[in-house]
Amino acid sequence: EGGGNMAASGEGDSEGLCGGERPGSGGLALLGLAPSAPSCPHGPALLFVKTSQGREEGRRFYACSACRDRKDCNFFQWEDEKVSETRLAAREEYNRNHQPPFTHRQNVERYKNFVLLPLSKRRFCQECQQLLFPAEWEKHLDHQFLCNISTAQLKSPSQLLYPLENKKTNAQYLFADRSCQFLLDLIIDLGFRRVLSVGTPRLHEMIQSKASQGEDFRVRSLLLDIDFRYSQFYTEDEFCHYNMFNHYFFGGEAAHEACRKFLHQDNGERVIMVTDPPFGGLVGALAASFKKLMAMWKETGKEGHNNQEMPMFWIFPYFFESRILEFFPSFSMMDYQVDYDNHALYKHGKTGRRQSPVRIFTNLTPSMIVLPVEEGYRFCTICQRYVSSGNQHCEICNSCTSKDGRRWKHCVLCKKCVKPSWFHCNNCNCCALQNHTCEKTDAGCFVCGKAGHKRSTCPSLSST
Ligand code: SAH
Ligand code: ZN
Ligand code: ZN
Ligand code: ZN
Ligand code: ZN
Repeated sequence: EGGGNMAASGEGDSEGLCGGERPGSGGLALLGLAPSAPSCPHGPALLFVKTSQGREEGRRFYACSACRDRKDCNFFQWEDEKVSETRLAAREEYNRNHQPPFTHRQNVERYKNFVLLPLSKRRFCQECQQLLFPAEWEKHLDHQFLCNISTAQLKSPSQLLYPLENKKTNAQYLFADRSCQFLLDLIIDLGFRRVLSVGTPRLHEMIQSKASQGEDFRVRSLLLDIDFRYSQFYTEDEFCHYNMFNHYFFGGEAAHEACRKFLHQDNGERVIMVTDPPFGGLVGALAASFKKLMAMWKETGKEGHNNQEMPMFWIFPYFFESRILEFFPSFSMMDYQVDYDNHALYKHGKTGRRQSPVRIFTNLTPSMIVLPVEEGYRFCTICQRYVSSGNQHCEICNSCTSKDGRRWKHCVLCKKCVKPSWFHCNNCNCCALQNHTCEKTDAGCFVCGKAGHKRSTCPSLSST
């Protein structure tokens, strides 16, 4: 079928970001979620168009919203394509057949029965990533499995399940314990009682397990994630199978309602949404979904937060700052470096050379986000926010300008601060690495959207 799932192209950045949504990148532009969009097993497909030199080129087409790798879902349809009745029927059947073997309801029932089993009868198939009942053992005999699944294990599914690391689709990078604990402490200190955990299974798990341990722990969490394996461990009030690229609830209206109900408890007060989407994700599609979740929260209709936004932490790499601010002008980026367990590159920089590029974007007042002094953050009284210790306040910019924690230097010609390793290039008329190749482009940069440079020399990209 034609151009294939081209939404996967546009990748190839040093930081592993992709997307190709920016016109001018010679990639793809995301046109969004059309009302009459056809569906793949992952819900309504997104509309894309190929671009070259900032112009739309060629026919528009639909591709899977969730999987930017053809191998995971090869859904493709031209926008103006006539699809025959037989093909439509076949597609519907295909979509039905590509749903998980059990429904969420069935998984909840299974869990209830599973915990009644004696330890010696509790198995977990590592190949099928599924809890097994004795009657099912035979079918999985030649699979690797774990025995004696304890209650503790059942309460830490993110440890039991293997992370789905395939970069283009799930990109499941789990928070390091320190970062997860920091986020939860921050949430509690800010007075929140409910967390809408969108693509943050480990944070959800930490909240769930504390809630089941301590009676004085009042925080609740609802996990929205596309990883259906989690439905084996959580009820319909704790988990919704959800696609954050098209705001699709796989569980239909009932799941939608569960989410609404969660947001509307206590008049919608003291709720925060925390999300950590795959970095390759299309920012425009994510923003559209998050706006819908915010609107869902707002529907409470109660006075008080009518003009407010639902508080949110969007965890994402710093080089997407301008993209996020485009969609959410009220957001600001915090200096806190979010660390991951299974991401070799994004571990904390104490011993390793690499520093995590991942930050917290929030619509809360920056001064409220207290960062740990013992990890090297300090409060800048002029900026009224916590910054990395290396982030020096620039008198000319009148702000703490570093994005990566290192001390940046001010360039009078660029009229802004740049990375320490950069020099002003008169050819490019901007600062860049000394050994860069001068490029002339009229189209905007893929990363920051500004003219005059390409993404390889974008001033907002790190070069660790
Ligand atoms: N750091 C987080 C995990 C972030 S990894 C934590 O430790 O809790 C990204 C998460 O988003 C994964 O859980 C993945 O399953 C989920 N995800 C990936 N694509 C998604 C989609 N289209 N819709 C919803 N969730 C998705
Ligand atoms: Zn799909
Ligand atoms: Zn400052
Ligand atoms: Zn400056
Ligand atoms: Zn310069």
